[in-house]
Amino acid sequence: MAGTGREAGAAENTGFEDLSDSEFPDFSELGDIEELGSSLGNPRKEVDAQGPWKRKREADAPTPMERFHLGCLWVSDLSTQSWCEQQMVYRKERPGFPSAEKAAVLDAGASIHLARELELHDLVNIHTSTKEDAWAVKLLNVLSMVPVLQSGGTIREFPVFGEIEGVFLVGVIDELHYTSKGELELTELKTRKRAAMPLAAQKEKDRFQLPFLCDFLPLEDHLVCLYLYLQLSVLFQVSLYKCIFDAMVWGQVTSASLVHHMKLSPEMLLGPQVHSHARQGGFTVMSFGDLLELTFLSLSLSDLPVIDALKIEYSHQETGTVLGTEMVVFEEKQVRDKLRHHLGYWTGLREPRGVDVKEAWKCRMCDYAAICEWRQSGGTRTLSHEQHAKKMTK
Ligand code: SF4
Repeated sequence: MAGTGREAGAAENTGFEDLSDSEFPDFSELGDIEELGSSLGNPRKEVDAQGPWKRKREADAPTPMERFHLGCLWVSDLSTQSWCEQQMVYRKERPGFPSAEKAAVLDAGASIHLARELELHDLVNIHTSTKEDAWAVKLLNVLSMVPVLQSGGTIREFPVFGEIEGVFLVGVIDELHYTSKGELELTELKTRKRAAMPLAAQKEKDRFQLPFLCDFLPLEDHLVCLYLYLQLSVLFQVSLYKCIFDAMVWGQVTSASLVHHMKLSPEMLLGPQVHSHARQGGFTVMSFGDLLELTFLSLSLSDLPVIDALKIEYSHQETGTVLGTEMVVFEEKQVRDKLRHHLGYWTGLREPRGVDVKEAWKCRMCDYAAICEWRQSGGTRTLSHEQHAKKMTK
């Protein structure tokens, strides 16, 4: 499998890395959370009164996707949006802000991913200097993995992409393999700091009811909610992967859509390293357009099945030992509803918002708590995109 050795400014303008998110933070040291609850007042009541959800962006103002120069959204980013939308916005506006401890957690997760990937593939570093080359590497990975999956093998770090609900989504599936029953199963790898499975409460069947459930829990039980929310976010992530993968194998993802959203030039010749890697893989291609055509032809002729089962595998961060697995139930309607809600922010239909008062415990572990205007205003104040953009450039 190929990865990109990218030069600054040469790759896609997404701000994200190719390796999928793997961390499953362990927040066992939550202390008193009531003070935060009281500092937030009762945002839900006031927010509902001012109706920010219905607020439309000013005419001609750039949408967040335009403001951040994004042609696509990463699935892992959408799943962090479930946690706190405002926090996700801060992360994009202030990259590099996360604490050293959280960066270490991310590093540990990434190295476990890498080790797992190396079990199946040799990693080749390929220099890319254009966004077409960066996408070419993804397409070459798809081209090399489709036949393996077709012949019943296991593949890891499979790139998925496609337009869903009008927005181009991109992600990386940790692992795809067939079960003993012949079902195609997706496995998402999550690492944990503690050598134990998440709480039993996470086994709740219908976790899309979670926000409702948490409303009825006393504040001190919100540690349970935290685990449930993290689980919910993983569930959303793997469900989105299934939506995109299925659309790819059904032929619903087109090369025209990829070219349009990512503003790619099919006539662009492949860079020397990408070209050489393609040749070594047995693909006779000169331009990015040649590779596009070959990849989409391969997908349409592959006759790959849709994903039948979704599984999360937990492993210990320090040792890499597998702690256990959990199956996820795919609920398409809930996934699509949630996605549409998230995309409402990205497409400029509504302002970003922080957490409600009942989720104030999340602020305690947030790197942006000291600067968060949502929190400081008791959850009643949201800046327009333009106000926010001006403030961030000061
Ligand atoms: Fe969200 Fe709270 Fe962090 Fe603000 S402080 S970004 S509301 S989690």
